[in-house]
Amino acid sequence: ERIISAQSQIEEDMIEGSLRPQQFSQYIGQEKVKDNLKIFIEAAKMRQECLDHVLLYGPPGLGKTTLSAIIANEMGVQMRTTSGPAIERPGDLAAVLTALEPGDVLFIDEIHRLNRVVEEVLYPAMEDFCIDIVIGKGPTARSVRLDLPPFTLVGATTRAGLLSAPLRDRFGVLSRLEYYNEKELSQIVLRTADILEAELGEEAALEIARRSRGTPRIANRLLRRVRDFAQVQGDGQITAPIAHHALERLQVDRLGLDHIDHKLLMGIIEKFRGGPVGIDTIAATIGEEPDTIEEVYEPYLLQIGFLQRTPRGRIVTPLVYNHFQMEVPEA
Ligand code: ADP
Repeated sequence: ERIISAQSQIEEDMIEGSLRPQQFSQYIGQEKVKDNLKIFIEAAKMRQECLDHVLLYGPPGLGKTTLSAIIANEMGVQMRTTSGPAIERPGDLAAVLTALEPGDVLFIDEIHRLNRVVEEVLYPAMEDFCIDIVIGKGPTARSVRLDLPPFTLVGATTRAGLLSAPLRDRFGVLSRLEYYNEKELSQIVLRTADILEAELGEEAALEIARRSRGTPRIANRLLRRVRDFAQVQGDGQITAPIAHHALERLQVDRLGLDHIDHKLLMGIIEKFRGGPVGIDTIAATIGEEPDTIEEVYEPYLLQIGFLQRTPRGRIVTPLVYNHFQMEVPEA
């Protein structure tokens, strides 16, 4: 497992739970998204209605689940959690929906992975708070309409483009989460250190922040690993030199890139003269699935301007040559 993976890793779920901000005031960054949501929540409360359905999209680890829990908290309701792949048949969704209490937030992670049949059950549920279920089989089968309590669906996705148009249109609020800047990430790890009762200096926090790929989940994970080094090799205090040393040992470079990023970038430079080269060819060269490259490796490299997408394939930019202290080839 990559230490800089933005995906949640085994045994991380419980730790993350305890680090999750409960209120907007503890949720750092994403100011625009927060400001809008606060207004919508206040308005819904004034009208004594539930909040309109919300779609949160953006790369993994940026705080979609956390934000959904905060929405439920601020609305004063429960959050029920499920995910696209977990709901296989219409009956699975019906069971979830009919168990909701009035006003509840239903969080569906990876909502782009719901299958079509299930999606169609969701439409009337979102629009009119009812579902049509078929009882029986063959000629005696009949459809029964069930009323549901009003609820707020919060959908999360890393791939908004994969959502079907009819589903996307049924969300009243669409919020895109952005990568965090260094200052925000350092505030996040300082807050986490507080909860973990670890002593973390401001400089050390910045050092961790810089290598966290704009992602709170990675920042918190790096902090925990750096803390291990501080404990074993130091006196427990996380100072800037210890953080620096630990991150070098973890082979996360000063931009948060690891050996897989290096392999990908150097592969394009050495085998394809910097590109353009198609995603399938890159995938074959480094022995990965094209989907994995697009979903996992590439987004951050695009974000920091190391890779560019062109109609003829990916190219590496001069920033990459600078990063590796190589000469930028003549055009
Ligand atoms: P996602 O659902 O987008 O994959 P999560 O909501 O699970 O991301 O967040 C991952 C971790 O990062 C959680 O432990 C959470 O506490 C932390 N986190 C995310 N966003 C923030 C934030 N804005 N402020 C503080 N911590 C955050």
